[in-house]
Amino acid sequence: MTQTAHIDLKDGRRLDFAIRTSCKSRSVRLKLDAREGLMVTAPIGVPVARVVELVAGRSDWITERLRRFDEVGHRLTAAEAVRPHAIDLPALCESWPVEYRETRARTVVARTDRSGRIVVSGAVEDARACQAALRRWLARRAKRTLLPWLESVSEETGLRFSDMGLKNQRTRLGSCTADGRISLNCKLLFLPRELVRYVLIHELCHTLVHNHSSRFWAMVRRYEPKTDALRGRMREGWRSVPVWAQRV
Ligand SMILES: [Zn+2]
Repeated sequence: MTQTAHIDLKDGRRLDFAIRTSCKSRSVRLKLDAREGLMVTAPIGVPVARVVELVAGRSDWITERLRRFDEVGHRLTAAEAVRPHAIDLPALCESWPVEYRETRARTVVARTDRSGRIVVSGAVEDARACQAALRRWLARRAKRTLLPWLESVSEETGLRFSDMGLKNQRTRLGSCTADGRISLNCKLLFLPRELVRYVLIHELCHTLVHNHSSRFWAMVRRYEPKTDALRGRMREGWRSVPVWAQRV
């Protein structure tokens, strides 16, 4: 049986890993390689929380190993090569288990199955191809959820936009053109709901005020009184974006 968990490394990276239970193993073992990332084997009966605690206790070793992988010139860093076993989307209060199925297909596709899992199939030994497939899945999920969300906040506030679309930008979570076209970043799905709502209000306010003047901020605060506190949390929000989702 395989379960998934994650730890937060000191450098701010989030490391997802699979825990495999085995009747043969006597103790919790960690294996880290540049291609597969971190794999943990645990004896049957050890609670997941205990395994995570043990793994977290070795986070210095893990960080050091990941750094060494980078140094020796692996083209893939371990974090980049990780095939996530779960995708958490706090913006939607969703958590999706991810399964990998090797088939003869040369390409990799990610789709949602009826039991609420993401099934990645095809040439799944290629971690980068798996990540790219998951980014396409993420874009579809964002289209289905973020755009209607923007519409409903627009209706609620009376702030109108001319058009909307999705982008997977590296550094910006949203943008608004002079003619009121709003672009949203798929990575917003990894942020808490209140931060996403703040970004939507922020961009909607830009349809009327195109700069960050005090008039602009006064307007944002009118629609979202907690604006100052939320702005302070944006950096933390970015950190919750997993590495696999970051590549554009
Ligand atoms: Zn702005």
